Amino acid sequence: GRKFFVGGNWKCNGTTEEVKKIVNVLNEGQVPSQDVVEVVISPPFVFLPLVKSLLKPDFHVAAQNCWVKKGGAFTGEVSLFHSKFKFDESCLCSAEMLVNLGIPWVILGHSERRLILNESNEFVGDKVKYALSQGIKVIACVGETLEQRESGSTVDVVAAQTKAISERVSDWSNIVLAYEPVWAIGTGKVATPAQAQEVHSELRKWLHANTSPEVAETTRIIYGGLQLSFLMNVQSSKGKNSLRSFYANVNSCVLGYGAVMAAVLARVLQLPFWRIHEHVLCMYLFLIAFGIPVSGSVNGANCKELAAQPDVDGFLVGGASLKPEFIDIIKSAE
Ligand code: 13P
Repeated sequence: GRKFFVGGNWKCNGTTEEVKKIVNVLNEGQVPSQDVVEVVISPPFVFLPLVKSLLKPDFHVAAQNCWVKKGGAFTGEVSLFHSKFKFDESCLCSAEMLVNLGIPWVILGHSERRLILNESNEFVGDKVKYALSQGIKVIACVGETLEQRESGSTVDVVAAQTKAISERVSDWSNIVLAYEPVWAIGTGKVATPAQAQEVHSELRKWLHANTSPEVAETTRIIYGGLQLSFLMNVQSSKGKNSLRSFYANVNSCVLGYGAVMAAVLARVLQLPFWRIHEHVLCMYLFLIAFGIPVSGSVNGANCKELAAQPDVDGFLVGGASLKPEFIDIIKSAE
């Protein structure tokens, strides 16, 4: 069988003190053994050596990105490139540096890089190939946006993203595929376990038809809901669909929408508790206005049901990986 895999993507968060605290929680958490679950923690670059040195050896460490070729004359570049540069004019932490630091894993193709930093399928494919060639294992992320889901192209999108990898790589034994629907992003829309299973199963079918039955059977496909901020989601929807997408996002704040309706109804019907709803309404308007996520993502409460899906082989967790509930998510492997 496929060993359950739980990745903790800390994104660009943390101070030395916070890092020490989280690592403590991880080290002391009662979690299933390494035979049952593979746990990989991905801190920002600057904390990689610290986390590696503090974390108990049962857990492994991943970088959040690495460059498409050997490093070189790219002063100051670590994890980001500026969009005014072309890809080949920017350097990221090189895979060689990860080897040197003893970092076995890297996350590549995360939607935040694809969408905010315009990383193309081909570019991600090149990076996957290079990292593997240097002996670094890869968590390769795929996923569709809200517009793509609404236009019915989910499977085509994730297939094209996976194809760009499979065209460059034949050995899949060191790749974990992470499906992260970009629309499950601070919009109140959470992929249901059935929706996650549907795409995971399509991805496995795609691997079966386009790589080999063995690759399809053995490759772990993990789920990572996303929780970008509301405003980032709006920014990432460009062109003629942006207004529609904007309203889709507003309307899909299920809780927020519900609160608005409740407040309006209570007001109209002159119910005595309308004032309470007024406060709820203000809170949601605040959340929406400031781009704070409303809901989404893998968490301690929804992980069990997701983990029970036959083609969900683990998780790539963002926000919740910085909290003690990450231990519960690791436990869902059992
Ligand atoms: P959240 O769990 O914070 O939504 O992030 C998911 C993610 O991007 C994991 O890579």
